[in-house]
Amino acid sequence: MSPTGADGCLFCRIVRKEIPARIVFENERLLAFEDIRPRAPVHVLIIPKDHFASLDDAPEGSEALLGEILLRARALAREKGVGETGYRVVLNTGRDSGQEVFHIHFHVLGGRPLHWPPG
Ligand code: 5GP
Ligand code: ZN
Repeated sequence: MSPTGADGCLFCRIVRKEIPARIVFENERLLAFEDIRPRAPVHVLIIPKDHFASLDDAPEGSEALLGEILLRARALAREKGVGETGYRVVLNTGRDSGQEVFHIHFHVLGGRPLHWPPG
């Protein structure tokens, strides 16, 4: 079992419901849940259920999946009440970005003014 492969992957374990999470959306392809250490009043993570480590590892043909995640980010932002005030969708990719969990995940952050540039 590789710690970076699907078997030992933290977010795959959340997909399999082996680890609890506050799930806010689920369909056949996607799971969205509250970040365990929220950095803003709204902080949701959206992941594909299929494991790939990062955007850099996104398989050919994943255009529809990645687009679905963005539109789900918009829907969740609206549900969380930040559609009007604004929000940020963050996709950390690789070491220099600070990516810590190597199962691709999109952060949706909002509910306060967000600094720019990040980091
Ligand atoms: P990254 O830095 O890789 O872009 O973001 C990883 C995110 O996953 C962090 O914001 C962190 O708080 C969140 N996270 C790490 N472990 C868990 C967990 O077990 N459950 C949930 N819900 N979020 C987690
Ligand atoms: Zn995974």
